[in-house]
Amino acid sequence: MRVAEISLPAIRHNVHRIRELTGGAVIAVMKANGYGHGAVHCARAAIEAGAAIIGVADLEEALALREAGIDGPILCWLHGVRVDWDAAVDAGIEVGISHLSQLEGVAAAAGRAGRTADVQFKLDTGLSRNGAGVEEWTDLFARGAELVRSGEIRVRGVFSHMANAGEEHDLVQAARFDEALALLRGAGIEPEFIHLAASAATFARPGLYYNTVRVGMAVYGCSPFPDRTSAELGLIPAMTLRSEIVGLRAVPEGTGVSYGYNHVTQGGTTLALVPMGYADGMPRALNGAGATVAIAGTHCPIVGRIGMDQCIVDVGSLARKVSVGEPVVLFGDPSTGVPPAEVWSEVLGTIVYEVVVGIGPRVLRVAV
Ligand code: PLP
Repeated sequence: MRVAEISLPAIRHNVHRIRELTGGAVIAVMKANGYGHGAVHCARAAIEAGAAIIGVADLEEALALREAGIDGPILCWLHGVRVDWDAAVDAGIEVGISHLSQLEGVAAAAGRAGRTADVQFKLDTGLSRNGAGVEEWTDLFARGAELVRSGEIRVRGVFSHMANAGEEHDLVQAARFDEALALLRGAGIEPEFIHLAASAATFARPGLYYNTVRVGMAVYGCSPFPDRTSAELGLIPAMTLRSEIVGLRAVPEGTGVSYGYNHVTQGGTTLALVPMGYADGMPRALNGAGATVAIAGTHCPIVGRIGMDQCIVDVGSLARKVSVGEPVVLFGDPSTGVPPAEVWSEVLGTIVYEVVVGIGPRVLRVAV
């Protein structure tokens, strides 16, 4: 049994929390299968809690959500060289525009369909990634204004993404974003959704909310900061990674455990087999790093090398005997007494984003 239990009440709570904090619209980012949480049920929960738009990276993700019955606004912003703009227009997907060629492609598709396509301008204000560079803005906005007048497009929004939320450079990016807004307005376009802040800036930069924030990690309840917990931000982690004990073995002192025997028991103990391994997103680097799982309310150490499909937990310290079939929590909401996902990201020297999004495909996502 390998289950990522996803608390939809937690998703709803987090969206409410962000709306309350910012007082503006929320775009809930559901790319990469909702950061590994399952995009469809999370999108539904976010919309129920008042998210104005669901954001994803590419058109395939947007179309999959539409096909799954998400019928509100969906925005996608990272496009390949060949994109089926007709499919985007037919499905009523909002397209993030980073280049004039994308604007022309969407407008042509709108013309063929006899419809007005919704677009949002995606601008690079200093991340040096996806988004129209400053040298393209004037032409892009002028052409946008023409296409608005001729009815092919409606500019629903304008946005940019930040490099280092919480640091001085934020203000440089914000100043460039303001310049872009002035240019856009000069071209006669007033977008409904203006957004720069993602999760970190939502908590670190209240001055940069404009009228919308575009948040991913905070929706899933993890902190975007290494030094501030979810609880400190008023968020509830939505994912609980669960498994069960499938085998128990009493072993004497000196027993080598798992590949390479880099763990040898210090005394007689009981080892529990848990069917969760690195194919499921459990980092091999947890070996020897002091990580634990929660069994019957006690944190028990993961011992020996983690395999592709299984790991071993020393349950010798538990006050009572455990049985095969008992639940194991690998991580979840620490306020419920289980380890947080951040233990894994600290061990890996990475961010919690990589942990939750890396939970493998054979782990069932179950909404609760
Ligand atoms: N906006 C864009 C363009 C992104 O690429 C991302 C995620 O990487 C987000 C918003 C959401 O970021 P976060 O999860 O930090 O809120």
